[in-house]
Amino acid sequence: MSAHLRETIADLEAGGEVTRDGLARLLCADESTAQALYSAADRVRKRWAGEEVHLRALLEFSNHCRRNCRYCGLRGDHEALSRYRMRPDEIVRAAVEAGELGYRTVVLQSGEDTWWTSEMLAEVVRQIKSQTPVAVTLSIGERSEEEYRALREAGADRFLLRIETSSPTLYQELHPDSDWSERRARLEVLRRLGYQVGSGVMIGLPGQSPEMLADDLLFLRDLNLDMIGVGPFIPHPNTPLAGEQGGTLQLALRFLACLRLLCPQALIPATTALAALDPDGWERGLCAGADVLMPNLTPSEYKEKYALYPGKVWNDLDATAFRRQVGTIVERVGRRVSSGYGHTRLSAAQCAAPNLTTTSAS
Ligand code: SAH
Ligand code: SF4
Repeated sequence: MSAHLRETIADLEAGGEVTRDGLARLLCADESTAQALYSAADRVRKRWAGEEVHLRALLEFSNHCRRNCRYCGLRGDHEALSRYRMRPDEIVRAAVEAGELGYRTVVLQSGEDTWWTSEMLAEVVRQIKSQTPVAVTLSIGERSEEEYRALREAGADRFLLRIETSSPTLYQELHPDSDWSERRARLEVLRRLGYQVGSGVMIGLPGQSPEMLADDLLFLRDLNLDMIGVGPFIPHPNTPLAGEQGGTLQLALRFLACLRLLCPQALIPATTALAALDPDGWERGLCAGADVLMPNLTPSEYKEKYALYPGKVWNDLDATAFRRQVGTIVERVGRRVSSGYGHTRLSAAQCAAPNLTTTSAS
């Protein structure tokens, strides 16, 4: 490992400034540098986030989508995909089961499915909140401010909306029917409405250089996010990006570790896409800075059909078996499952003052 990179890691760990070039070099560094980076991220995680791992039960309640993001298996033009929508009572039942298994958060995720009006979704949120003591996170894509407000008033606590890349140019190439600035603006709307806000990017997108990933890291840091979810891009065979290479586990872990060093207080999951690349992906993520896992509690008849990318693991596990599996993973890395909600660690002042001046990295 070069003395220069060792210094960059030490500066990051001490909360010092880092340059775009420094980060780009860390993302491409050799394996021994990467090990030092993971160890630094693990120490910072321990200091700021502690030993508890927060679990979020994921419910993929609809795979209908009006968008055509070029990387995603749920894109509207993917005609071979068999589509489903869970019924409202099925969603509520699954959320109650999650609460009974000890989960303190359920994440309701879907394609951009306008069949679900905000009133219908708000009723589901209200039912869940009245029947089981869980926090509710939404990951349903872009809606109007009024719709986000109705859902917040119904009791939704958090919202995940990945920016996908901090480069508006790359974003436009990948999203024929959506606009980077509008997506970015929605993060501010969500924050203003009082949601705990999560965003993130994909790693290893076509045309994404290490410098662009360094820009992503600095961009995410400047957003003061409560939660940051990042994962490798995995090419789906029935999409326009089928022939692309995709992100590697190594690059994703390095990115994750840099993220922990730059955003010590953020809630950062070892994402499902990490586990899709390596059966030990969750353990490795937890040891490189992550403090959240998102076990999939979608009923088994739907799980297969929610194929954003190929290689999703543990589709055969039911809710009880998955809870056991995740307990084993957390124990294996010497940590413990949190019994709390795992709400944001940012102070009210930080949340109330998002960095409105951050526009784009390029
Ligand atoms: N429709 C909503 C939520 C579901 S998609 C939305 O787009 O916000 C959730 C995330 O899956 C996306 O933000 C994207 O980052 C990720 N994703 C989609 N296709 C992927 C792929 N091929 N590889 C890796 N991640 C992917
Ligand atoms: Fe739809 Fe989200 Fe996939 Fe884009 S990423 S096609 S919005 S499910």
